[in-house]
Amino acid sequence: MSTEYIPKIAMTVQAHPDDQEFGVGGTLAKWAKAGCEIISVVITSGDSGSNDPTKDASYKPILAELREKEQLAANAILGVKETIFLRYPDGELEPTIALRKDLTRLIRQFKPDTVLTGNPEGWFYGDGYFNHPDHRAAAQAGCEAVFPSAGSRLIFADLFPAG
Ligand SMILES: [Zn+2]
Repeated sequence: MSTEYIPKIAMTVQAHPDDQEFGVGGTLAKWAKAGCEIISVVITSGDSGSNDPTKDASYKPILAELREKEQLAANAILGVKETIFLRYPDGELEPTIALRKDLTRLIRQFKPDTVLTGNPEGWFYGDGYFNHPDHRAAAQAGCEAVFPSAGSRLIFADLFPAG
């Protein structure tokens, strides 16, 4: 008998389309196959994720739409049940109270057993990667939404009507 942990409901909180796949895609596929209900929260839609010199700001909504479609396709492969795009601006993410409140609302709504996000203290990974600040902001807001916000009734008490 396996004693491996499989949550009933899991939520991922990520800054950009594709962050989830780089970080926890294998775990999600395994959990989904075992019956876990997965909710994928994507805070920005990756609308700044191009350095193509032929593109300008008018390309941002087109890129966002493309990246959302890619995320939905990836989530279909992984077995993710629900994908939520919060559409914050890519490259400008901060761990604000507004973001924490959005995440708190989702945690209270879906009641995940586990929330997967990044490391809010992650700056340098080896010699080759300087972490994107959006990743730290998403992780900080995600951790702070889990605790103390989601379980403390009087924090964001105006969310009560939402359940
Ligand atoms: Zn990213």
